[in-house]
Amino acid sequence: AADIRPMVAGNWKMNGTRSELDQIRAIAHGVSGPLSKKIDALICPPSTLLYVATTLTVDTKLLVGAQDCHQKARTGAHTGDISAEMIRDCFATHVIVGHSERRKEHGEDNYTVSMKARAAYDQGLTAIVCIGETRAQHKAGRTMDVIHRQLNESMPADATAENTIVAYEPVWAIGTGQTPGADDVARVHARMRADLVERFGARGEAIRLLYGGSVKPQNAPELLSVPHVNGALIGGASLKAADFLAIYHAYE
Ligand code: PEP
Repeated sequence: AADIRPMVAGNWKMNGTRSELDQIRAIAHGVSGPLSKKIDALICPPSTLLYVATTLTVDTKLLVGAQDCHQKARTGAHTGDISAEMIRDCFATHVIVGHSERRKEHGEDNYTVSMKARAAYDQGLTAIVCIGETRAQHKAGRTMDVIHRQLNESMPADATAENTIVAYEPVWAIGTGQTPGADDVARVHARMRADLVERFGARGEAIRLLYGGSVKPQNAPELLSVPHVNGALIGGASLKAADFLAIYHAYE
């Protein structure tokens, strides 16, 4: 629907030390002007920078999120993991779950991803649930089936537009400089919207659908104008404030 508020979100992955905090400052400054009345901006730094990032962005329009959380919401014997409660305690508001790099490198399946989203809800965070087909699945013409299943299995039954954002990220487009054509993105996003409405009714109309995968300042105007694309999840191009802001300003 036309009244969905878009979001431009950055995923820093395993990038960013204190010396890159200037980029977060610059992004926060850049997204706090008049356009902030129309769209949201979010940055997801590594967890080591989460607390300092929220501290730096107090009184700006930049939202801060984490890149992953454990499926257990609060505490426990899970060495190396961080919980949704810890993320909230850092004053972050969002958390990415089910990014393809987590699915691949940490063996996370749809069920685990849905549990992580629940952990996020439990702590009042908004989960950004990532789905997307691999190159092999894409080549085999299985994109729609894969998306349908991942969406259905990765999203908890109590998902709403407030607690959940969906990001469609074709795995073969992440970090490769390759993107699907606008028509392909349109088909997938229309399918996701239809699936959400079928499952959640009117609630499903309002859930934001982001596109992710090699979004750059040059291709952002085209990708962001595709129907049912309610914003972008940006990896590489979110590391430089100038690139992030150029994509953000595609909404002008
Ligand atoms: C991502 O990993 O979420 C992503 C979209 O990466 P990139 O923009 O670098 O392709």
